[in-house]
Amino acid sequence: MIKNIKGTKDLLPNATYNLQDIENHLTRFMHLHGYGEIRTPIFESTELFTRSVGENTDIVNKEMYTWEDQNGQSLTLRPEMTASVARAYIQKQMWKIEPISKYYYIGPLFRRERPQKGRLRQFHQFGVESIGSENPEQDAEVISIAYNIYKMFGIEDISIKINSLGSGNIREIYSNDLKESLSNFKDSFSDSELKRLEQNPLRILDSKNEKIIKIINENAPNIFDYISPTDKKHFESVLNILDTMGIPYVHDNYLVRGLDYYNQTVFEVISNKLGGQDALCGGGRYDKLISQLGGEDIPAVGFAAGMERLIIAMNLENNESTSTDIYIINNEISLNGVSMLLADNIRKNLGVAVYVDTLRRSLKSQLRHSNKMKSKFSIILDAKTLDENTVCIKNMEKNSQDIIDFNNVVSYFESE
Ligand code: AMP
Repeated sequence: MIKNIKGTKDLLPNATYNLQDIENHLTRFMHLHGYGEIRTPIFESTELFTRSVGENTDIVNKEMYTWEDQNGQSLTLRPEMTASVARAYIQKQMWKIEPISKYYYIGPLFRRERPQKGRLRQFHQFGVESIGSENPEQDAEVISIAYNIYKMFGIEDISIKINSLGSGNIREIYSNDLKESLSNFKDSFSDSELKRLEQNPLRILDSKNEKIIKIINENAPNIFDYISPTDKKHFESVLNILDTMGIPYVHDNYLVRGLDYYNQTVFEVISNKLGGQDALCGGGRYDKLISQLGGEDIPAVGFAAGMERLIIAMNLENNESTSTDIYIINNEISLNGVSMLLADNIRKNLGVAVYVDTLRRSLKSQLRHSNKMKSKFSIILDAKTLDENTVCIKNMEKNSQDIIDFNNVVSYFESE
């Protein structure tokens, strides 16, 4: 039997129904905030990600699905969205058209990670990118969007971690000091942690290893002590706006985020419900990325949020939701055409969902199925009553029924 690839998922109607509902809410929410949808290709040239995400990141080092095209060009399934959005923005020279571009996206991403709950090889993210403003109010808007989305979906136990990485070469100076301060404790590091410390020391701060966390807390320097007064002021302004908006956060001195392009504000939204993979969403400012990829010197800020983790946090993983409004039951094969015509009339006139059995089930089992589909009404077509031009409409919630003239079925529901 051919099976799906490890770390990927087939989504059946009970899952896609919830997803569509979430996507509809997100689309509306983004529209209310002045963000328009951007859709970019699922694969890009590999160079886009090596140059933006960074050569020494886990993503580029070991997680990308990369192959050589027939013409020898190296291509990669996108492992994240910001690089693609930046590329599209630059390619279309959007800064010449509008002073600020606000985008949102929803779509699949690909990383060859070790699959576990909340961690897939094909996963889905929604996110925003606002390109054009360097001001702290833009950071605050993006953070508040992330926070309010989770509130909209009824997720209560979330917290925001926020930090500033400063700008200029602060990252490099800090990385070197961090490496040096931790080099005395190399005995406590595993091989992969040592490699990390060597190649991308900032990533050590993401460690989940209790022993390493203790060493960091007791010995690592604080990036916040390195950043300039201007960067501090920027950060404080972001926090002030969040305070005014009543959005709670924790300033986490060791929050750095894995990708190379971040500067100044970085943040994550964490849920207590998610266990090991507790990050619902992460983002920050990336003021140099647009110029680094060949555009003008244009600042930007955004976030990316995992769809699968949102679904876990919403407790929707095992939700059964195949449903209909009206179920048309008939007890004779000869009535199939009439049932289907009636179903079409109701759908066309009232815009409600109508289900017709195509398995030739018995009356009893159609009724049972109608119940299972949580229909509000069942219409029972019976050859005998149809001779008198009547049908029986059963209200499934109230368990009551009415006998109605066949020609009045649509108007019956109009008044319901
Ligand atoms: P990142 O792009 O790594 O900053 O991730 C942003 C968000 O995407 C995370 O907070 C997760 O919610 C989600 N995410 C990242 N990687 C995965 C994955 N392999 N499987 C599922 N969700 C993921």
